Amino acid sequence: MSHTTPTNHTLTGVELIHNPILNKGTAFTPAERDALGLRGLLPPRVFTLEEQMQRIMENFHKKQTMLEKYIFLVALQDRNETLFYRTVIEHLDEMMPIIYTPTVGQACQEFGHIYRRPRGLYISSADRGHIDQLLANWPYEDVRVIVVTDGERILGLGDLGANGMGIPVGKLALYTACAGIDPATTLPITLDVGTNNQSLLDDPLYIGLPQRRLRGEAYDAFVEEFVSAVQSRFPRALLQFEDFGNSNAFRLLHTYRDKVCTFNDDIQGTAAVTLAGVYAALRHTGGALADQTFLFLGAGEAGIGIGDLIVTALMEEGLTAEQARHKCWFVDSQGLVVQSRDKLAEHKLPYAHNYPFLPDLASAVEALRPTALIGVSGQGQTFTQPIVEQMAAFNERPIILALSNPTSQSECTAEQAYTWTNGRAIFASGSPFAPVTLNGQTYIPGQGNNAYIFPGVGLSVVASGSSRVTDEMFMAAAKALATALTPAEQAQGRIYPALERIREVSAVLAAAVSQVAYAQGLATTLPAPANLLTAMQAAMYQPVYGA
Ligand code: NAD
Repeated sequence: MSHTTPTNHTLTGVELIHNPILNKGTAFTPAERDALGLRGLLPPRVFTLEEQMQRIMENFHKKQTMLEKYIFLVALQDRNETLFYRTVIEHLDEMMPIIYTPTVGQACQEFGHIYRRPRGLYISSADRGHIDQLLANWPYEDVRVIVVTDGERILGLGDLGANGMGIPVGKLALYTACAGIDPATTLPITLDVGTNNQSLLDDPLYIGLPQRRLRGEAYDAFVEEFVSAVQSRFPRALLQFEDFGNSNAFRLLHTYRDKVCTFNDDIQGTAAVTLAGVYAALRHTGGALADQTFLFLGAGEAGIGIGDLIVTALMEEGLTAEQARHKCWFVDSQGLVVQSRDKLAEHKLPYAHNYPFLPDLASAVEALRPTALIGVSGQGQTFTQPIVEQMAAFNERPIILALSNPTSQSECTAEQAYTWTNGRAIFASGSPFAPVTLNGQTYIPGQGNNAYIFPGVGLSVVASGSSRVTDEMFMAAAKALATALTPAEQAQGRIYPALERIREVSAVLAAAVSQVAYAQGLATTLPAPANLLTAMQAAMYQPVYGA
């Protein structure tokens, strides 16, 4: 049976202390302890949220490895969400690499071995025909944001099967931390359709079904049942697809984007954050979008998603689709994507230009002389020194975006990019790198993290009640993010705002996205608020203890 979100009045005693949404731990006041049957169940001294956070940080810093810090934070999230979010929000720079990339990647790889307690819903292919009943087991009715994965392409780490659950959990934590989505309304889901990862199949502690992946019509029917069960059980929920393998990801996006309130962050969120970075980079170089040549390493979800949004942006500037696509070139694992290649996947075809085939990135850089290099291949150390040096030879300010995650898969490091270009690169990466000091000057690398986009988009959908997520919304998000960069941040060489400002930026971005939702007639929270920014800010969850 489903319940609405519990309140302090529905739970008391040990049950209350064990409910992470309502638990205040040692911060329950004497009056609450009396009224809620807590006397004796807690040590007598009452602490403030700030004092509790001090204890958390002390313990956090004692943990020796990133993975231990991750386990510690997840345990805190399971005990006391208010304290967890307050701590994460106040230390976002330090915490984000733990609760998300890169550490979440390692956590997923070892998920079965560090497993403590469940979070979210696991729906396996053995549950076919009964998915609605599984959704009914979720204890909360008012679900507003769902992140779902089938674990086939976790970050740049490949097929991690049911171990991929760390990703929806981490991503939803970012929805809350970065844009104030109420955690009680979020739901992480893993569709366990098996795994083709042999080492997981051989691992006695693997948590998923030890069988190979479901494919073809059976897979599609399973996802179809899942999507329609979500629609009937949680009709107001935004359904975000995450880290699916690319053939399924593109197909599912096309199947559902006009039918339900959904988007794919790997394709659309990545596109928006990258386009925002490009716009901001052009503020540094002084160039125009239409004068750029983009060369992508990797022609998957991220690459094609970015390419498509760049094309939309160029068409807004007056180029035809054909002219715009000619600004985007792709190298995949087989070489340059050109017309003469056979058996190209459908999503690559629009970018298969009539041009001689070139076997690799180095030859493509030499021939095409791109102004921007965008790495989305999941292959580390592929922007080699000669390639980066060549970019610097024919660009005063080469744009180098090494977006593959986690850190180990980054196409080059920040230090390499700055060193090999003598500090001239405009660099951003998917996973964070520390500032680099070169010849006495400090460069702050940008993190082209989707967390600048998807939380704000989610806030907009929740607050405006938008029934769909459209490309125009991502375009608005990209522009709002680029505009949010202050002159002071630009002067530091940044192309993305400082992470400490992310909640403020998410609200601005959500207002821009909501404006599109209202203009497109998709918003259902009516009448439209007179001031969208104030409405977005007011809709944000704050990590404070309720009465
Ligand atoms: P994908 O599997 O859809 O695509 C990967 C692409 O890389 C494919 O086209 C493949 O052919 C190509 N590729 C593989 N090996 C290659 C090689 N040696 N040389 C050239 N190309 C090669 O994956 P995706 O969703 O596009 O993600 C790719 C990477 O981008 C991942 O590491 C992911 O973590 C990262 N990513 C980062 C962000 C971000 O930071 N904002 C967002 C999304 C994805």
